[in-house]
Amino acid sequence: MQIAKQAAELTAQGIGRTYGDFHALDDISLTIGRGEFLTLLGPSGSGKTTFLMILAGFDRPTSGTLFKDGADVTRLPAEKRAFGMVFQGYALFPHMSVEKNIAFPLQIQGQSGTQIQSRVDDMIDRVGLRGHEKKRPADLSGGQQQRVALARALVFGPSVLLLDEPFSALDKNLRGSMQDEVRRLHQETGTTFVFVTHDQSEALALSTRVAIFNQGKLQQVASPRDIYERPANRFVAEFLGDINILPLAGAAMNGNGAVARCGEQQIRIASAAGAPTAHLAIRPEHMALSTERPAAGNVLPVTIEAVTYLGPMTRFAARVDAGPSLVLETPTHATTPNLVPGSHAWVSWKEEQGYFL
Ligand code: ATP
Repeated sequence: MQIAKQAAELTAQGIGRTYGDFHALDDISLTIGRGEFLTLLGPSGSGKTTFLMILAGFDRPTSGTLFKDGADVTRLPAEKRAFGMVFQGYALFPHMSVEKNIAFPLQIQGQSGTQIQSRVDDMIDRVGLRGHEKKRPADLSGGQQQRVALARALVFGPSVLLLDEPFSALDKNLRGSMQDEVRRLHQETGTTFVFVTHDQSEALALSTRVAIFNQGKLQQVASPRDIYERPANRFVAEFLGDINILPLAGAAMNGNGAVARCGEQQIRIASAAGAPTAHLAIRPEHMALSTERPAAGNVLPVTIEAVTYLGPMTRFAARVDAGPSLVLETPTHATTPNLVPGSHAWVSWKEEQGYFL
């Protein structure tokens, strides 16, 4: 059953928010599709919450327009937008039971007692709180309280659900199970979800698309895979995890791809890597290490600087001779035991694994 009456599409057009001379948001344009799970990701102070508050109607932009399903809602107050919200500080009513907390938005809407009871019952089952209906928030665990907040935000079938770092206070295991829960609720309800986090892996795991913010500017909006594997710029590439950046000389298109030099070595780059620039980016897990020079692929001679055992993976720092230091992660079972600091080795990667930055 779809809970949402109708999922909404939101479009921001040139949204800006200034505080005096300071640009908290600068010219943000993006469309959040009907039923999408869009995550706003960025470092602290990048403008994520400011943007979410503007979507919610708790704050007004100083420039630009916000559309909901094509209608200008820039000046529409929050209560008239009727979006569901789960915020870090958006507390439950402490004196009310779980079921009364969940019923509250329906009572405000003036729904009948039987309608309310059946919707509340349905939500209690959906968020796994059966048996806890009569408890007060203080008698629940942190994860259970967040489930109540989710149920209360979804019970009235909002067209948009806004979530601001809802799991930041939970421990790692609980966070993982709440992420599964949110993903399932998104699928079941079909509502448009907009989720704020500064946790990269949370964003990649949950979203249909990720919008990356930095210093009030939108850097890239794309699927988790494209954000990680085809970042639009160096900030996005580095924000999403370790990245090796090799300086190139003479990069030029050559038939079906590009060629360049890295130190003494000739490098081949696949056509999907973009237009040639002076830097090639490769994720650590896409590089291999060996003691013998591999016959195929791109290869560079390196000296091992550090080896760190991480359980399933082993991490190496390796310096390209007269070049940059690289980070590599190799499945431990495939690691050659005699690679120790000071060893000479070869780093290799397939031409389709590198991209120009
Ligand atoms: P975090 O992950 O730490 O919550 P964020 O990406 O959500 O960060 P915002 O809370 O949107 O960042 O803040 C963006 C910038 O705007 C910050 O530099 C913040 O200091 C500034 N800012 C936010 N609200 C105000 C305000 N009322 N007055 C002045 N500056 C503000």
